[in-house]
Amino acid sequence: MKLTNNRYYFDYNATSPLSNSVIEWLARGDFFYANPSSIHTSGKESQKIINSVGHFLFKHFHLNGGFNLLFHSGATEGINTLLKGAISKLSKRESGVDFFYWGTDHSAVVNSCKNLNYNYRFNKIDSNKNGSCDLSKLLKQLEKCDQPAIVNFTWVNNETGIIWPLKYIEEIKKKVECFIHVDAVQSIGKVENYRQLSSLVDAYTYSGHKFGAIPGSGFSFVKEGYPYQSLIEGGDQQEGNRGGTINTMAIHSLEIALKEMNEKIDVKDAKKAKRFIEDEISKLMGSKGIIVGKDADYRNSNTINILIYGFKADQLLMDFDLAGMDVSIGSACSSGLLKASSVLQEMGYNQEDSKSSIRLSFSPYLTYKDAQEYLTKITPIIKKYV
Ligand code: PLP
Repeated sequence: MKLTNNRYYFDYNATSPLSNSVIEWLARGDFFYANPSSIHTSGKESQKIINSVGHFLFKHFHLNGGFNLLFHSGATEGINTLLKGAISKLSKRESGVDFFYWGTDHSAVVNSCKNLNYNYRFNKIDSNKNGSCDLSKLLKQLEKCDQPAIVNFTWVNNETGIIWPLKYIEEIKKKVECFIHVDAVQSIGKVENYRQLSSLVDAYTYSGHKFGAIPGSGFSFVKEGYPYQSLIEGGDQQEGNRGGTINTMAIHSLEIALKEMNEKIDVKDAKKAKRFIEDEISKLMGSKGIIVGKDADYRNSNTINILIYGFKADQLLMDFDLAGMDVSIGSACSSGLLKASSVLQEMGYNQEDSKSSIRLSFSPYLTYKDAQEYLTKITPIIKKYV
């Protein structure tokens, strides 16, 4: 299936097209333009929409009491607010704070908490080639902390599609006291149980443009008692938790997009279709390349990271592009210089190999028929390199 610009779009992890129901709603034009903080009738109507989206989100994600909902502009803002804010708040106490993250986390996690002028320790959790960690080692590190700890887990890695098993959180919470934030951005529609959230986690963050809502919208669930500190100061919108006029239209689109996803999604089928593409690519590559993380215990339904030894990712990307397919590279390319993917390096790949992988991230609604069609387009490119 092609997009309206006649391209094959395999970059859903970067951003997804608007969902059909959001497009239909926008085409109808029945918008809520009034400021929900205004006390006139139209403002109250907008506020009603915000409240009803809030109720929907709690129900949709099976979270009852004990959590607050924060609307923001997307996951980068949500993550900065929750992680930087908590580090800042806790480090004001005498004891300081320990922050744990993974080198494979999104730059929104790694960079927002780097080089802060606070009393905190920055602890990196080591990742292995399957994108997992040694849980007992992490538990020992946490047990040794003599000050409050905040830990970030990324549920689904955006470059590899590897799922971090949230069930480990139970073990961690049983043994140590710490605040846990989950970057859940890539989970929606790509993990079988994405709606079933654990109330053991202290905060979750999501981004609307990753699942068909209007870009510039996102939300976080934040447990009562989490060391919350507002990042965006301004008016007292959202009970003073985030200044700035609330984006009613974008927030409304979150509910519309999630409802459509829930009605249409079949994660198991999409996963099978993805596996079909991936197995065929593996066969074509033989020993000349690998699918990154293929042996990981848990993987999502839409992401394939292909590493072909000895070739540069930007060269591969150009070939896909010329053949009408939008794919992405984890390795950043600036001023003509290709940088190695930090995610792959963190997983133990060397510099050269970390410059040789491309990511295909399909629609979460991928079908077997789509997969067959896509494979006929992908095969000639892979064959050129192996
Ligand atoms: N976290 C993960 C895992 C992501 O994939 C992304 C975006 O790619 C972000 C955070 C940042 O999201 P946003 O674009 O909404 O700021």
